Amino acid sequence: MHKGYCQCCSIQYRIINDPFDCCYCHCSICRRLTGSAMGAYGSVPKHEFSWIQGEELLTRYQQNTTTTRLFCSSCGSFLLTTHSADKQNVFITLGCLDSEMESGPEYHQFMGSKASWENNHDAIAQHDAWPEWRITQLRNSLKKQGTKLT
Ligand SMILES: [Zn+2]
Ligand SMILES: [Zn+2]
Repeated sequence: MHKGYCQCCSIQYRIINDPFDCCYCHCSICRRLTGSAMGAYGSVPKHEFSWIQGEELLTRYQQNTTTTRLFCSSCGSFLLTTHSADKQNVFITLGCLDSEMESGPEYHQFMGSKASWENNHDAIAQHDAWPEWRITQLRNSLKKQGTKLT
């Protein structure tokens, strides 16, 4: 079990297992959302995620018709993303987890839009945009719902 919380600790959640499909995203959206070179995310099955406290302090940013970002309204920490194309999972920001995971992100995505000043030297897989398998997964899921990938 892991616990995650925002910088001011008002909002806390628990997850049962390590997140899966962990990655770094270097797209311009994630750079702005995090104010950093990249976002670090992991997928968690919805039924394995629960709020411990502070859910009422969450601010929701509806980024587009499919993607919602959740922040602490007090300290601004970016905690969670929900995506209507993937109703089974939520996407946590790995930086808010308090405990050590067995392993970290497995790949980098959107290296094609990384900041010019960023120098990445690690050896895990790098993709210019989303990895192919992720696009296929989203398309299939959206097809089932009758919506298009945005
Ligand atoms: Zn907070
Ligand atoms: Zn991104």
